[in-house]
Amino acid sequence: MSDSVHPLLPAATPLLRGDDGTVQVGGVDSTDGLLLDPVPGLPRLLRALDGRRSHRRVRAEAARNGMDPHLVDAALAALRSTGLLTDLDPADLLASGAGPAASARAVVELPSATQSPGSAVWRARGLSAVVVEGATRVGTPLASMLAASGVGRVVVRDSGLVRAADAIVGGLTTEDEGRPRSLAAADAIRRASPLTDLRPLPAGVAPDLTVLTGPWAASDPLTAEGSDGGAQLVATVRGETGVVGPLVVPGATSCLRCGDLHRRDADARWPRLAAQLVASEPPPSGSTLTCLLTALLAAGQVLAYLDDAGAPLTLDATVELRPPDLLPRVRRWPAHPSCGCGAAATSGNPDPVVVAPPPGAEVPPQGTMDGERVQPCSRTRHGAALPGAGEEDV
Ligand SMILES: [Zn+2]
Repeated sequence: MSDSVHPLLPAATPLLRGDDGTVQVGGVDSTDGLLLDPVPGLPRLLRALDGRRSHRRVRAEAARNGMDPHLVDAALAALRSTGLLTDLDPADLLASGAGPAASARAVVELPSATQSPGSAVWRARGLSAVVVEGATRVGTPLASMLAASGVGRVVVRDSGLVRAADAIVGGLTTEDEGRPRSLAAADAIRRASPLTDLRPLPAGVAPDLTVLTGPWAASDPLTAEGSDGGAQLVATVRGETGVVGPLVVPGATSCLRCGDLHRRDADARWPRLAAQLVASEPPPSGSTLTCLLTALLAAGQVLAYLDDAGAPLTLDATVELRPPDLLPRVRRWPAHPSCGCGAAATSGNPDPVVVAPPPGAEVPPQGTMDGERVQPCSRTRHGAALPGAGEEDV
């Protein structure tokens, strides 16, 4: 047993006493529960598993209180096997302790973050930097969510002033009207996470990921100019449709220009039409529900990428959310052979039986990341996620 195991039983996990003195841990919804035999002092011990003490220390304290250490081991092992108990990495623990309030906020985020397979996920999030281009009705709530989810540095770039319709739950407020949007967005992030680093990145330092919230980022020359060559994710609302993706890992997955070339193939007029779409600042758009669901979905994709938790759904694909049902619809955007990004050269299909849907085609919705697709993808910080060649399984 090492001191690196710090058992955490979330404070909200029910501990329910039966008539015979047994203790039921969890098991009141669709997740597994565990029934433990009556042992004096066990409920108190379980309630004290806050992730701040090592398993060794928990065991030693139990022994001092007259409990059998082997019984404690067995109870913790059973809780682990049912997924009720998670073990915090000491590095995560250190990263969550910047004062009692920050620690209290982290405690409710940690159980979910530690479900990711990587080690010290919370600390890694704290070391990550995400830039959100555009303090829009999607961008600002998204930035706030990322900060609250432990991303250490979140920078919102925007040169405009807040308009009345920019106000949205979790983002800019009605009182922000007329203020610089970048400053108002920073305040929104502070409300969600006061200790998040909001400073702009130094020149030449690329973020781990840039989120583009403009409605037609692929056709926007400013986006192309501002690109630092790092990973990008589109998260926007076009008209009434929320769009998340593609998540672009340069050289490894299809890029925004790949998608634009597919649109050009389908309609030769596209370049001239697209130029008109980005000719002026887009007005605020999207209902509150559409914008927040888009931001939520995008935040999940960002965290999956930062956590190295398998292949995000939006690699080579977009997910669209259309009212009134707002159910996710996936569209595939494979690498375009004429694009100079190099992704087409890495996405050859060795299996002739697999037939890919045409570019932009809708495919059945997929609410979670496919396990088979997770396996061949890996990511390194500042590095690339490499989808396995020939996969067309979304
Ligand atoms: Zn490309």
